[in-house]
Amino acid sequence: MTATSKWIRVTKAQPCPICEHGDWCTRAADGTVACCMRTESQKTMKNGGWLHRLSDPLPAVKTKRRPDPVVPAAEFGHLADRYAKAVGDDRIRLFAKSLGVSALSLRRLNVGSDSEGAWTFPMRDAQKRVTGIRRRLQDGRKLSVKGGHEGLFYDPNAIGGRDWILLPEGPTDTAALMTLGFVAVGRPSCLGGREIVKQLVGNRDCVVVSDADEPGRRGARQLASELEMVGRVVKVIQPPSEKDIRAYVQKRIGEIGPGRLRLVVESLIKNACVV
Ligand SMILES: [Zn+2]
Repeated sequence: MTATSKWIRVTKAQPCPICEHGDWCTRAADGTVACCMRTESQKTMKNGGWLHRLSDPLPAVKTKRRPDPVVPAAEFGHLADRYAKAVGDDRIRLFAKSLGVSALSLRRLNVGSDSEGAWTFPMRDAQKRVTGIRRRLQDGRKLSVKGGHEGLFYDPNAIGGRDWILLPEGPTDTAALMTLGFVAVGRPSCLGGREIVKQLVGNRDCVVVSDADEPGRRGARQLASELEMVGRVVKVIQPPSEKDIRAYVQKRIGEIGPGRLRLVVESLIKNACVV
C-alpha cells in the first residue's frame, strides 16, 4: 500500500477479499492490502482489525475528492437568493445576536446558508449584480464560492440618496454600521474592491472605516487616497477601542443603545480630518 492510498469500506458488491463479508472491513484504494475485522493475521491494526497483504490485488479505486463545482457567473444571484431563503428568521436572529447586529441588517445584505451550514454573504459589483459569494464556515474560516469575483457587501436598495457612504472591511462590520442606520458598503478585504468602490460611490462623500491594525490602516489610507484623487471628499476613521467596528458596536450598543452610539460614530466622522 502506498503512503498516499486511502482506506475505503467494503460493500456488498465489492466484499472483503478475506472474509467475503460486505460490511465492516476496509481495503486500500490501491487494492494491495485489506483490513479484515473478522479474520486474524500477524498484524493488528489500530481499529482492531487485521492487515492482510493481497497476493491477488483488487482493482484500484480512485478516491480523489471531487473538486468544488464552479458556478457560472450568471448564476450567483440565484444562488445567493436560494441560500437566503434556506434560512428561517429564528436562525438569522440567533446569528445577528451572536454578532451584535440587527437581524434586519443581515436580511438586507441577503445573508444565507449553504448545504454545509456555512453562512453566505453575496458580493456585488458597482451595477448591483451579485458576482461572488463569501462563505463563513462553522469553524470561522472564510472561503468563497468557486467561479465568482470579489465584490462589495451592500444592500442594493440603500445606496441612493446623498448621505456619507461608510466603507468598512467585511460583511459583518457592514451589518454593524447598518444597524446604527448608516449607509454602509463593505470591502472584501483591507485592500480589496477599490475599483468597484470608486465606481459605486459616484460623487458621494466617503468615510473609510479602518480596522484597528496596521494592514487595516494601510488599506484604508490607500483607498482614501485613491478616492481623493478622483475628487471625492474622504475621511478615515477607526474604532476608538476593539479590533474592528463590529466588535466596537457589539460592545457599546448594549451600554448606550443604538441611538446614542450612532451619535458617537457621527462625532468620530465629524472630528476626522478630510484626507
Ligand atoms: Zn473481512
